[in-house]
Amino acid sequence: MSFVILDLEWNAAYSKKRKKHINEIFEFGAVKIDDNRQIIDRFSVLVKPSIGKFLNPYVKKLTHISFEELQSAQHNFQSALAEFADFLGDSILMTWSTSDLLALIENQNYFTGTDSLRFLTRYCDLQSYCEYILGVGSSSRQLGLSTCAELLSIDTQTEHHRALSDAELSYLCFKKLYKKVPFEEFVEDAADEEFYRKLTFKSKHITDLKSPLVDRSKMFFDCPECSTRCIQKTKWNVRSNSFKAVFVCPECKKEFDGRVCVKQKYEGIVFTKKIVELPVKEEEPKSTSKPSENAE
Ligand SMILES: [Zn+2]
Repeated sequence: MSFVILDLEWNAAYSKKRKKHINEIFEFGAVKIDDNRQIIDRFSVLVKPSIGKFLNPYVKKLTHISFEELQSAQHNFQSALAEFADFLGDSILMTWSTSDLLALIENQNYFTGTDSLRFLTRYCDLQSYCEYILGVGSSSRQLGLSTCAELLSIDTQTEHHRALSDAELSYLCFKKLYKKVPFEEFVEDAADEEFYRKLTFKSKHITDLKSPLVDRSKMFFDCPECSTRCIQKTKWNVRSNSFKAVFVCPECKKEFDGRVCVKQKYEGIVFTKKIVELPVKEEEPKSTSKPSENAE
């Protein structure tokens, strides 16, 4: 079994044809690793841009590549991809998060009109594997490659972000965190349609209370103090992608902010509930007037 870790560099280029920005890939960098997790081969190719007319200043600063340098590259996207497919062979492909894979699909779709990467048979998202082993990361906060390297005390002082050096850095993280089990569970079969449906599925928040995906029977709260079922005091409001309402406990009379987040993911509907106690309202100030003044 061999593995290939791929890293890509791309530039947001405006396509007149598609009337939108395309993440145009300009560099492929990869390392091939054997069963003993030693590097046995390296791959580094520059791609001549055909959509973009200049390099984003941010990308230029990060990579230290100039647009002129790219213009003299020998490969276009298709020939670079064909070379990479040869390099990959039947190895398991790995990238740090699925964004590189999505960029690869976006470019292939732009240049050839097809979505599936026919040369790809098995894939592993190295980022989610490392997050799992380290017990960090979540859907809202993902583990960056350099953060992961720092956590593992790997020297990240490479001069600039280039595809090959980032692939090598990913390799060092992989080498430190590799365990046969559960690694094998993170390797996905990439040869069928299902893989692409899952990969391109966009999770979204459901914010329409009338949507059939919102199960109203689940939108209740029990008092965190005494476990009594709370009574809803206000209508549901949509706030920052969640449904929000005020609840009150009939026993201890405490008031709570109840939040329900409904997210449609590839795996199905995910319900998240959160209840936060509201600060006790100050009682209306009592009348300070003397009783005599109110006397009739
Ligand atoms: Zn209570």
